[in-house]
Amino acid sequence: MVKLAEWRGKEVFRKYGIPLPRGHVARSANEVESLVRSGEVPLPCVVKAQVLAGGRGKGGAVKFANSPEEARSAASAILGLSFKDETVKEVLVEEKLPIAKEFYLSVALDRALRLPILIASAQGGVEIESVDDAQIVRQPIDPFPGLTGYQKRRTAEVLGLSGDPARALDRLLDGLWRVFTAEDAELVEINPLAVVRDALVALDAKVVIEDDAAFRHPEYAEIRDDRTPLEEIAREKEIAFVQLDGNIGVIANGAGLTMATLDVLKEFGGSPGVFLDLGGTDDPKKVTEAFLLMAQARPKAVFLNIFGGVTRCDTVANGLVAAMQQVPPSDRFPIVARIRGNNEKEGIDILRAAGVTSNPSLKESAQSAVALAKEAS
Ligand code: GDP
Ligand code: MN
Repeated sequence: MVKLAEWRGKEVFRKYGIPLPRGHVARSANEVESLVRSGEVPLPCVVKAQVLAGGRGKGGAVKFANSPEEARSAASAILGLSFKDETVKEVLVEEKLPIAKEFYLSVALDRALRLPILIASAQGGVEIESVDDAQIVRQPIDPFPGLTGYQKRRTAEVLGLSGDPARALDRLLDGLWRVFTAEDAELVEINPLAVVRDALVALDAKVVIEDDAAFRHPEYAEIRDDRTPLEEIAREKEIAFVQLDGNIGVIANGAGLTMATLDVLKEFGGSPGVFLDLGGTDDPKKVTEAFLLMAQARPKAVFLNIFGGVTRCDTVANGLVAAMQQVPPSDRFPIVARIRGNNEKEGIDILRAAGVTSNPSLKESAQSAVALAKEAS
C-alpha cells in the first residue's frame, strides 16, 4: 500500500484539475517564512503537518497564521513533533480560505461489492467514522461506464448544491474518478471539500495507491513509507518479514502455514510480533540472515514452525544455530521449535545439540511459546 502524504496527493489532484488552495511544501521554518514573505503563499495561511495519520486538525498539527513571523513559529512548533508515532519532517503551507461549508467525498474500493464506490456526505471536516450513517450516501460505480451523470446529480443533491457549485462538482467528480482509475488508487478522499464563495476547493487530500499496480508507477517507488526500517532491510534481502504489534516472533515456511501459526498463537492468548516466511529457501545462510533480522526486532520468544519440503528441516536448523551464535547473550530469547517433514530427524538433532527441543504437537508448542513470552514481559 502506498499512502501519499497530503501534499503529494494534492500534486496528483492538480494534474487532474481538482481545485486546490495555493500552497507549497516546506521542510524548515525558514522556508515557510520566506514562502509567506515573498507572497508565494498568501496570508492568512495554514501550516499543516505532513504525516500519514488523520486527525491532525484536532491534534494540534494544523495551525493558522496571519504574518510571516506567525507562519514561522507555527512551522517550528509542528516540525519535529511526534504525531501518532510519526515524526513531522515536512509541512504544507497554504492560503487559508474562508469556508462556507465542509463536505466529505471519496472514491474507495468496496471489497464486498467488488466495485469502486463513491461516498459523499454533507457532514465533512470530521472523520467519516464519526458521521451518522444516515448522513452518508454510497453509490457503487460500474467501472466500465464510470461515474454517470445521474450519480453526479445525485451527489449534488446530497450535498445541497445547485447552479455554479453543482457544475463545479460535476467537473470535480470527473477529476476524482480519473485520479482513482488512472493512478490505480484504492482510495481517493477529500475531507473537507470546502465551499468557498461559489467554488469548491479540496482542502485535504488522501490518496492510497494499490500495491499490485506499483509496477506501473515507478514515480511512487521512493515513498513507500509504510515499511518499518527492519522491513525495509528485509525487502532488500528479499526476505518475507512483517512486523506487527505483539511480542512473539514466528518463523514458518509458506504463507499458509505462517498465517495458521499466527492464528494458533492468538487462539492461545499470545500476540505475534514479527513473522518471517522462509518460503522455499534451501540456503542456511538465508535462514541465518532472516533469523538475525528477527532478533533485531527483540521478540520475547520465538516459535519456529517448519514443515520441511523444498526447505529441508536440517537447512533451517543449521541456519538457526549459526544465527544464534551471533546474537549476544543479552539479546537472546527462548525458542520453541516444531519441525516436521523432510530431514526432520537431522534437523531435530542439530537443534537439540544447540539446546532447542522440538515438540511435534502444534498445540503444546504454541502454548509454550505464549507462556514463555508472558514470562519474559
Ligand atoms: P485532518 O484533520 O488531518 O484531516 O486535516 P485537514 O486537512 O482536514 O484539516 C483539519 C481542519 O483544518 C479542516 O477540517 C478545516 O476545518 C481546517 N482547515 C484546513 N484548511 C483550512 C482553510 O484553508 N481555511 C479554514 N478556515 N480552515 C481550514
Ligand atoms: Mn481531513
